[in-house]
Amino acid sequence: MPDAVVIGAGPNGLVAANLLADAGWSVEVLEAQDEPGGAVRHDRGVDPDFTSDLFSSFYPLAAASPVLAGLCLEREGLEWSHAPKVLAHPLLDGRCAVLSRDPDETAASLEAFAPGDGAAWQELREVWERLRPDILDALFTPFPPLRAGARLAVRLRAAGGLRLARTMVLPVRRLGEEEFRGEGGRLLLAGNALHADLAPESAGSGGFGWLMSMLAQTYGFPVPTGGSGALTGALVRRLARRGGSVRCGEQVTEVVVRGGRAVGVRTGSGEEVAARRAVLADVSAPALYGSLVAEQHLPGRLLGDLRRFQWDFATFKVDWALNGPVPWACPEAAHAGTVHLAEGVDGLTRFAAQIAMGRVPDRPFSLFGQMTTTDPGRSPGGTESAWAYTHVPHRVRGDAGDEGLSGSWDTREQEVMADRVEAQVERYAPGFRGLIRARRVLSPPTMESMDANLHGGAINGGTTAMHQQLVFRPSPGTGRPETPVPGLYLASASAHPGGGVHGAPGANAARAALRGRHTHALSLLQNRLTHRDRTGRRP
Ligand SMILES: Cc1cc2nc3c(=O)[nH]c(=O)nc-3n(C[C@H](O)[C@H](O)[C@H](O)COP(=O)(O)OP(=O)(O)OC[C@H]3O[C@@H](n4cnc5c(N)ncnc54)[C@H](O)[C@@H]3O)c2cc1C
Repeated sequence: MPDAVVIGAGPNGLVAANLLADAGWSVEVLEAQDEPGGAVRHDRGVDPDFTSDLFSSFYPLAAASPVLAGLCLEREGLEWSHAPKVLAHPLLDGRCAVLSRDPDETAASLEAFAPGDGAAWQELREVWERLRPDILDALFTPFPPLRAGARLAVRLRAAGGLRLARTMVLPVRRLGEEEFRGEGGRLLLAGNALHADLAPESAGSGGFGWLMSMLAQTYGFPVPTGGSGALTGALVRRLARRGGSVRCGEQVTEVVVRGGRAVGVRTGSGEEVAARRAVLADVSAPALYGSLVAEQHLPGRLLGDLRRFQWDFATFKVDWALNGPVPWACPEAAHAGTVHLAEGVDGLTRFAAQIAMGRVPDRPFSLFGQMTTTDPGRSPGGTESAWAYTHVPHRVRGDAGDEGLSGSWDTREQEVMADRVEAQVERYAPGFRGLIRARRVLSPPTMESMDANLHGGAINGGTTAMHQQLVFRPSPGTGRPETPVPGLYLASASAHPGGGVHGAPGANAARAALRGRHTHALSLLQNRLTHRDRTGRRP
């Protein structure tokens, strides 16, 4: 019997398993799919000569994460590649905002939009550099981040205190208007906020856009050389060398609870896999509490709160094998790993508003990845392995375009939407379509079939909006990985600090399990915080 069973071999499950194995625990990871990795996998399914990342690609959060740094994955053969420029946001009039790892180059690009905007960028960067160690500590350690939080509070005071805190909770539209006179800096901040499901007008999108922009400035947007799955491969190899194992094709259907404690799991084939000390779940919070743990083991208040759980936007992705480099109208975009395609901050607002109204966007804001530009081995010389993803509503109430998309995502709808994404690229890169050798479409239901955590095409384990962060993640409570069931820990992106590939939720869950912190007293506290009645009625 292993000390711990980990449900799911996504990056968080694998990080958790590695940390438990480092502490001498025996660990078995059970993964529903035929291969490990979750949303960190690549294949050659678009064209046999092209490596295509199936889901995630760019890993600034991994580069900044002390959790992943501590695993020394370079010793497992992991290497990182960078595009010549991190990010570009072209406009139809030929201007283009460029974020480079050289801050002077970024500043020069923004200065071309409006005099003074280069200096404004440098000022934002200086604040970041002063606060960076404490922000990263606070972000990547278990909640509440007492020591890191206290240090951050002291430094925040020195860096402007309440005024800076105000800046962080601003909507990103407002932050951009306060900091920059021209469109360039505003675009970089707002486009980066939309790496999460944060519209330019939502509270806190300023802080998130700033954080992602500054991570990009400091760490770039690196990719694992050879394909995103190289990161997964390194985690699996490291685990195996410490005696841990990953069993694929094993869907967990139940967390077994006996005597009020999680004692193992049951798989789809009916097998019970017992765990001596802990069960760690790299699954979404609604899946854990809504199906894997029987209702009678959970406080009614938690079940009620989970009915209010908000997923992040659904996602629609297209992968391409291209016969040549993308013919961008703005030549600067050719050197960037990531290209944002939306016509200004207004274009981003329009896109987010259409999703909020349940409409499939007519001109979808697309995050476009140029993978061969970033990592030349991804496809033959002179070609480009590329993808773009955009967002769509979970429940479609209409089509903002005129093609009657209903959200059924049948073959016709997938092709129409993929054409729409291509039309968006074509606006900024005339001739793009003529280069397509092959394409693959990943609609929301397809994504979910390849990784159950990507529910309806959500990519971040739940919204990044402020009402589901910190003590509100995944539901109002302690913001910690412990669950109301002793011995069971939530280890996925549904837990604090949320989505992205950085391993923090997995590490937090592993550390909590190792401390055996789930004492009876803590369960009682959790139950008091979340208990109301079993129907989940509100007071
Ligand atoms: C299209 C897309 C693009 C993205 N781009 C980026 C990016 O560029 N950079 C970035 O940092 N992040 C990106 N993300 C987000 C990032 O990939 C996720 O936040 C991250 O993978 C979450 O890790 P996780 O381990 O919590 O879950 P996942 O990676 O989703 O892994 C969960 C695993 O658990 C398994 N599982 C689920 N239920 C069960 C069960 N009952 N039994 C057994 N196994 C189960 C799943 O099959 C899966 O393997 C992207 C995501 C998507 C989908």
